[in-house]
Amino acid sequence: METRIRKLDYSRIDENIIQEAGQIIREGGLVAFPTETVYGLGGDALNPESSRKIYAAKGRPSDNPLIVHIAEKSDLYRIVREVPQKAEKLMEAFWPGPLTMIFFKNELVPEATTGGLGTVAVRMPSDRIAAAFIRAAGGFVAAPSANVSGRPSTTTAGHVEEDLSGRIEMILDGGQAVIGLESTIVDMSVEPPVILRPGAVTREMMEEQIGPLEVDKAIIAPDSGIKPKAPGMKYRHYAPRADLAVVEGQTEQVIAAINRMTEEKEAEGKRVGIIATDETASRYPKGLVFSLGARRHEEEIAMHLFEVLRDFDETDVDCIYSESFEEASIGPAIMNRLLKAAGHKVIHV
Ligand code: AMP
Ligand code: MG
Repeated sequence: METRIRKLDYSRIDENIIQEAGQIIREGGLVAFPTETVYGLGGDALNPESSRKIYAAKGRPSDNPLIVHIAEKSDLYRIVREVPQKAEKLMEAFWPGPLTMIFFKNELVPEATTGGLGTVAVRMPSDRIAAAFIRAAGGFVAAPSANVSGRPSTTTAGHVEEDLSGRIEMILDGGQAVIGLESTIVDMSVEPPVILRPGAVTREMMEEQIGPLEVDKAIIAPDSGIKPKAPGMKYRHYAPRADLAVVEGQTEQVIAAINRMTEEKEAEGKRVGIIATDETASRYPKGLVFSLGARRHEEEIAMHLFEVLRDFDETDVDCIYSESFEEASIGPAIMNRLLKAAGHKVIHV
């Protein structure tokens, strides 16, 4: 199949293109679209056949449920059995935005969309192209991240094209995703609610609204063999082709350790990649150094992480060493993705 690519301009969103994309969804096809988090691979959430196509296009295991995207808060009540008061508070504070909430689903939502689960994940994106597209598509768009399963999520239309060209009807190009990491996921079907995936809406931000939350233990101690509650979190993710290890410790020691390991590897004839920041990049005389941006602007780090992991796949490095990111707010979300990409290989110095 030939994938149509349509560029959109936020200052003047072309309604004809939006309608063309919406019609593809209503007819059971697939469209990748920009959101503020990452690009989504969309299909009709209420059509089991569309969900099956999404799994096939991504090569995604079919027990890994999709997130249903809506454009009106009121549409939530049409697909779930109940909306707890705490969820209404979070909706009030963070929708539209990078927060996904899990509810008990009703019979309108096919199990093909929820990976066989009785619950459904729902998000209302703030991106204006996404909102217009969801409305044109009928209001309920199932979408996981628009990448081939296991690869880093996509933050530009070009990345989507790399992964999914020829497998989907259309890509809507809205430029670079501004957050660059997937949404926070919080399970509202249990009490207290549980964070299943960290994102730009942080634990502290939510606790300010609704009081104490729990965090899925599989996020904190991923090596412990605990089964994550978000099925998708159990799969190896984001992995670059080269071996990636995260180096943790005081900045000066991390730089020294990475330089030493780089020399050792190069002496063995290996090629080494280094994930650094603007503040540290010039401190690495050897290896192929990519910067994620300024450490003092952690949003920049978040925005460029998946892009840099993909950039390394275009090179011939054998191994990659990355600095670590422990800072507050979006730091836990950055580290969560980086550690998954590294298969939890951490070097403490
Ligand atoms: P992606 O959009 O690629 O980030 O994938 C969606 C994520 O949401 C995956 O990690 C899923 O496991 C998670 N998810 C979706 N629906 C549910 C649900 N009903 N319960 C728990 N996790 C879910
Ligand atoms: Mg994904």
